[in-house]
Amino acid sequence: MNRFAGALAALCLAAAGTTAVVVAGPAAAAPACSVAYRVNQWQTGYTADIAVTNGATALSSWTLTWHYAGNQSVTSAWNATVRQSGTAVTAESLPYNGSVPAGGSISFGLQGTYSGTNATPTDFALNGVPCGDPAPPTSTTPTTPTTATTPTSPTTTTSGPPPAGCAGATICDDFEQQTGSTPGGRWTVGAANCTGTGTVAVDGTVAHSGSRSVKVTGQGGYCNHAFLGTSLSGLGSGPLFGRFWVRHTTALPTGHVAFMALRDTADGGRDLRAGGQNRALQWNRESDDATLPAQSPAGVAQSVPLATGTWSCFEFEVDGAAGQLRTWLNSAEVPGLVVDGVPTPDIDQQWLARAWHPALTDLRLGWESYAGDADTLWYDDVAVGSSRIGC
Ligand code: CA
Repeated sequence: MNRFAGALAALCLAAAGTTAVVVAGPAAAAPACSVAYRVNQWQTGYTADIAVTNGATALSSWTLTWHYAGNQSVTSAWNATVRQSGTAVTAESLPYNGSVPAGGSISFGLQGTYSGTNATPTDFALNGVPCGDPAPPTSTTPTTPTTATTPTSPTTTTSGPPPAGCAGATICDDFEQQTGSTPGGRWTVGAANCTGTGTVAVDGTVAHSGSRSVKVTGQGGYCNHAFLGTSLSGLGSGPLFGRFWVRHTTALPTGHVAFMALRDTADGGRDLRAGGQNRALQWNRESDDATLPAQSPAGVAQSVPLATGTWSCFEFEVDGAAGQLRTWLNSAEVPGLVVDGVPTPDIDQQWLARAWHPALTDLRLGWESYAGDADTLWYDDVAVGSSRIGC
């Protein structure tokens, strides 16, 4: 990189986060593109925010390609369709962010896994044209949030993992990189049935880590269900381990509620739900309304309440092949929330009345109330992986 090109790249990098950049280049050919690849990584995984500044040719759609030097494997992406074949990665624009004027910028993000060295790619090409010398790689988080490089819809933020508490996780998010009021990045906000008064919002007043969490204001009634959800693609078909911290306001009621739902494509697309009933934690299978534990007094006694006004660490393992399930609260296994394959009265006898081999495709956290109960909950430090992550 010659001195001028270096200065130009630095200018593009500095300006990419503030506004559309028109590079006032010399008469010589301006670069076709420049790419700022910002990594946030932990022991086994990483996210990358990738900002692309276009050259002198306006684009109606774009494809950015690169190769990884190591064993980086992309597991999910936002604001682009990202495919990987070996070390070759292709990121394609989506309908809402394909149009880029000359000098304009776009950004997208991805999450992946790696071991060893997570080197920044050096061979970016935009629509087949090499970007030339890459912008200086940066591995630190910008000190000011970027705004102008975000798309207009449907998401305006990226999310990334914390540096700790994510060992073994494929998905890990502390919500610290959320800059809008509605969770973006890998997250989508939705109501299962119809829109009511339940809400989901990034919250800067209550947090388990850092200064942000996601607040769910859940109301009673069919239309007031509200969830924050993400795909589990990339997790593979082995045992699924999840961990999140939750803080809530109103003790688990007598009536049936759920604070987590996972779509089970092996069960007609119905949900596997975690929540409460009879004032204690329980799992529920939407397809046949089986509960875990059984809601007998002896069964409920083998579950535990969920404390209010404090953060609790909820962990679960779902082994679809074995048809088994385990649950921990604050690192202690809950005996009534175990499906171990051997029917146990008051616990999993009802659950094992039929074959159950779940294939879970998404994770939703929020509030679903079937008897009119309301609660306000906060979620933080959500992690999913193929081995136990811990609290
Ligand atoms: Ca946080």
